[in-house]
Amino acid sequence: MTILSDDHFHDECGVFGVYDNPEASNLVYLGLYALQHRGQESAGIVSVDERIFLANRGHGLVADVFRQHELDLLKGRQAIGHVRYSTSGGSLNARNRQPLVVDTAHGGMAMAHNGNLVNGVEMRRLLERRGSIFQSTMDTEVIVHLTALSRRKTFAERLVEALSQVQGSYALLAMNEQCIIGARDPYGLRPLVLGRVGKSGYVFSSETCALNLIDAEFVRDVEPGEVVVISPDGIESFFPFPRKDRRLCIFEYIYFARPDSNIDGVNVYASRKRIGMRLAQENPVPEADLVIPVPDSGVPAALGFALAAGLPFELGIIRNHYVGRTFIEPQQSIRHFGVKIKLNANPHIIQGKHVVLVDDSIVRGTTSRKIVKMVRAAGAKSVHLRISSPPTTNPCYYGIDTPSRDELLASSHSVEEMRIYTTADSLAFLSLEGLYATVNGTGSGYCDACFSGNYPMPFPRHDENLQLSLLQET
Ligand code: AMP
Ligand code: SF4
Repeated sequence: MTILSDDHFHDECGVFGVYDNPEASNLVYLGLYALQHRGQESAGIVSVDERIFLANRGHGLVADVFRQHELDLLKGRQAIGHVRYSTSGGSLNARNRQPLVVDTAHGGMAMAHNGNLVNGVEMRRLLERRGSIFQSTMDTEVIVHLTALSRRKTFAERLVEALSQVQGSYALLAMNEQCIIGARDPYGLRPLVLGRVGKSGYVFSSETCALNLIDAEFVRDVEPGEVVVISPDGIESFFPFPRKDRRLCIFEYIYFARPDSNIDGVNVYASRKRIGMRLAQENPVPEADLVIPVPDSGVPAALGFALAAGLPFELGIIRNHYVGRTFIEPQQSIRHFGVKIKLNANPHIIQGKHVVLVDDSIVRGTTSRKIVKMVRAAGAKSVHLRISSPPTTNPCYYGIDTPSRDELLASSHSVEEMRIYTTADSLAFLSLEGLYATVNGTGSGYCDACFSGNYPMPFPRHDENLQLSLLQET
């Protein structure tokens, strides 16, 4: 029997850690709160106090997982935390919640990881053959085992030895009783920043927006391939892996990161607005009366579009911000109920208008189809869908949740076929060149594989079969 499942490949996550602060767990809680958009299915914090590791991990949003009295139990001046989203209910499995915490021959250790290992399954099989017993389906546990098995002298050296055996994406936090280590994979696929908090404390975060909430000062981005060790000896930095060309995930700018974050020195909101402006230049809508974003993800790009096109920007679709994870559906079917409970088109704005509708991406196409129909039902004369990214033709293997290739609408449909499917009057995407123009002109330094198929590192093509065969064994 095996516990490997589909969620193994699709983890979206955020990590946050605080070193040397009397309120470490409280600050991590707040940090995770600000990183909630990076994962909503489970949250966890591990602190260390006098060599004792204390953990609280649970299913749901950060605010649901932690109560004050539970946070108070997470004592200590060091803590790391994690928020996670996984596609197939994997985090309902309590063993799949992070941070992981284990006892090793060298003492306790905790680890939180955002990313995916492309050789995770192979490494797991190798380790299992050597006798390792896995508790979860997470890649992170592979790194934990490799670190525990290392015979190197220091914690940092053991972690580096472990990381040098894996390939993939990671923004990783590892903690023992004395130090917190932040590491970013050699391509820098996933973001990670370093900050200062309080008199002597340090903080690691997936995004800068979480630093602002706890009044931490931004120090710098952790560099691709860098390992930053914070210990009683101060802060040390290493580049122990062979250097690679930087390939930051470009999708962080399009959709994933919070607009108030800066990633590798570039403000996410500003880049989305630039993307929207470029989209308007490439794909104008001469008959349009106004520009409406699909909230919230389409808002900055729609603003940019409206600005460049000289059109009014209107919030013609309103989002209900209080939608919980579940709701009781009516007995009789209401059309588009699932979307309507979250988004509602305002006929007062839309009636009789030629509308440009801006969203960030089309994945399966189901959301766009429902929203186009909703806008038309609110009285739009025409609906012109503009997407602020190129067509998503390829799955991501590096930590962003995308379905398999055959479920990606753009992998098997032309733009015209997608237009027909979404029922829009016209449909256009940002070009790859246009996307590059909005970052640095050339696109070099970024991963854009989900749009271009140009994967920065090989991924095991046989993995999906491997998974299936493993699943059939169960
Ligand atoms: P779909 O209905 O499958 O085409 O989904 C498209 C919608 O999902 C867009 O409105 C995006 O904002 C959103 N989206 C795109 N990528 C992701 C992702 N990796 N995780 C969650 N939502 C996403
Ligand atoms: Fe980001 Fe796409 Fe590359 Fe995945 S494939 S890391 S989503 S750019």
